[in-house]
Amino acid sequence: MSAPHDSSKWTIIFVLGGPGAGKGTHCGKLAANYPIAHLSMGDILREEQEKPGSRWGELIRRNILEGVIGPPEMSVSLLEAAMTKKYEKEGISVFLLDGFPRRIEHVELFETRICAPAAVLFLDCPEEVMQERLLKRAETSGRVDDTIAIIRKRFKTFTETTTPVIEHLRTQDKVIRNDAGKDTDAVYEQIQVMMEEKFGDVLKTSKRGRD
Ligand code: ADP
Ligand code: MG
Repeated sequence: MSAPHDSSKWTIIFVLGGPGAGKGTHCGKLAANYPIAHLSMGDILREEQEKPGSRWGELIRRNILEGVIGPPEMSVSLLEAAMTKKYEKEGISVFLLDGFPRRIEHVELFETRICAPAAVLFLDCPEEVMQERLLKRAETSGRVDDTIAIIRKRFKTFTETTTPVIEHLRTQDKVIRNDAGKDTDAVYEQIQVMMEEKFGDVLKTSKRGRD
């Protein structure tokens, strides 16, 4: 079956970093200021889990509690559907994929099915800082995986499974690294400078302009 869109014309930016690095925070800010769509893999999975009759529901529930990553077919299919919807509804063709790809097999399937990423925004943050942020987030997030036991499993998964993805993409010169341990304003400022350097043309047509 061929897709109703030409995904080779999309601009894809993977956004990676450990749990609590600030992916959601900074993707949200970028999407508010520029004509970019923010798609959070975690949010998409949590939403899918709630859908009655979803073929993935039970697997997602188990993976979240174990702090592990699901199969490429699930992540790529769900993302492709979300991107197509955004593109068809809002005409947006620049995507920040927050929390994807977390396994090397995800990169391979994504590149085969959709296209290669233009860049990878890597929010590099010390584990102790992330842990502190997540425990604070736990007070209000309602996320079942924001507990110390699952946070530790998520850190382990990040180090063992996602770090090789970043290393792989680094060899292709695609990784834009950011020091994400600083305060929110400083991190965002650095991200804006890097993004404008790399994607100036795309970002010039800002939705709401810079403030
Ligand atoms: P991720 O999506 O990478 O797991 P979030 O964006 O949800 O991370 O951030 C985790 C928590 O840390 C949130 O409560 C957020 O408000 C907070 N946070 C994010 N970035 C920073 C920062 N630079 N300094 C302080 N707190 C931050
Ligand atoms: Mg997040």
